[in-house]
Amino acid sequence: MLRILAATLLTCALSAYAQQYDLVLRNGHVIDPKNNVDATRDIAIRDGKIAAIEPSLPANAAKKSIDISGLYLTPGLVDIHEHVFLGLRHNAWGNGDLSVQADVMAVPNGVTTVADAGSSGWRDFAEFRHRIIDTSKTRIFAFINIVGAGMQNADDIAEQNEHDMDLDALSKTIAENRDIIVGIKTAHWQQPNFISVKNAIAAGNRNHLPVMVDFGWFDNKSYQEMVSTLLRPGDISTHVFRMPAPLLTPEGKPAPYMLDARKRGIKFDVGHGGGSFNFALAEPMVKNGFFPDSISTDLHISSATGVMLNMPNVMSKMLALGIPLQEVIRESTTNPATEIGHPELGQIAVGSIADIAVLRVDHGNFGYADLAGGKVDGAERIVPEMTIRGGSIVFDLNARTAVPWRQGHLKYATR
Ligand SMILES: [Zn+2]
Repeated sequence: MLRILAATLLTCALSAYAQQYDLVLRNGHVIDPKNNVDATRDIAIRDGKIAAIEPSLPANAAKKSIDISGLYLTPGLVDIHEHVFLGLRHNAWGNGDLSVQADVMAVPNGVTTVADAGSSGWRDFAEFRHRIIDTSKTRIFAFINIVGAGMQNADDIAEQNEHDMDLDALSKTIAENRDIIVGIKTAHWQQPNFISVKNAIAAGNRNHLPVMVDFGWFDNKSYQEMVSTLLRPGDISTHVFRMPAPLLTPEGKPAPYMLDARKRGIKFDVGHGGGSFNFALAEPMVKNGFFPDSISTDLHISSATGVMLNMPNVMSKMLALGIPLQEVIRESTTNPATEIGHPELGQIAVGSIADIAVLRVDHGNFGYADLAGGKVDGAERIVPEMTIRGGSIVFDLNARTAVPWRQGHLKYATR
């Protein structure tokens, strides 16, 4: 009798010990470019962090176990060019808010970290933080606009105001929000000079932050001059494939100054958006080996309802142009995370936060459009299946975590 009791106790103790993980995702094809993983693995999560990465974990090791055979498991996607604050007060249909609620577009698209790209300046940053950043499931960082009023006005009027670039006030706001401000943004500058870029760089130097530049008007100043002489290593040129950026030689090869700038450490970001992505630039650049450093959406209402759509669609376009899947994942995870000074994100490593995207890659005949109405055919499309944020499953397209409802002993409300 005693022996039986002892054996029972031992079994209980063992099974309690065995269920050492909260969740195990089994048999996923893990792509983690940062740590050079490209293989089938079981991934265990405990207390919101990655607890184990093994070819196989024992079946009883977790409280919950989900088989994801046939799917890819990657770090949660990192989109460093979005607009998630009521900074943009105009939209495609007239006056109104052009920004998108972060969670609505991030959670069902495998995105776990975003950076807002300058919607807000120092004048309304406290409101942005209080209302949006602190209340979202998605991790939100921000590039703060060099202009105090941010992108507040129609037709980018606020951003033309060189008298609203107060580096003292900006630096004070940065000091108060060091945990979330990851850079300075300047955008839509229309003048034939680099006043806004130079101010942004001065603010970047003073606060030890990178600058993200939307170049603005191409007809009255030199893009080459900006990336060759003004931007510092680590600064980001977004909208890299925006016409008419002079990226190509007459022979259709990447311009030598672009290769030099890359060697110097300038980062080139997609920032697809509603007016900044054209195959006439993207295809020859990519086919000649010039991949973007980071893939991003430039998410706002017009782009999300236009040909950009969402992060996986932009990634699929890059696949269609011939960038290998592993590189597309690199440009959507560890690269952007590193660009914003958070290299601890965008990876699947034991001890790292369990931000995960589970992706399906469909094979078939697909079409992808640019903003001039140009088309590229593709044989693959990336479809998000699950999103895990800090160890919690926040999106589950095919209900893998649910049980058959008749068998689940589920408690439905009775009144
Ligand atoms: Zn933007």
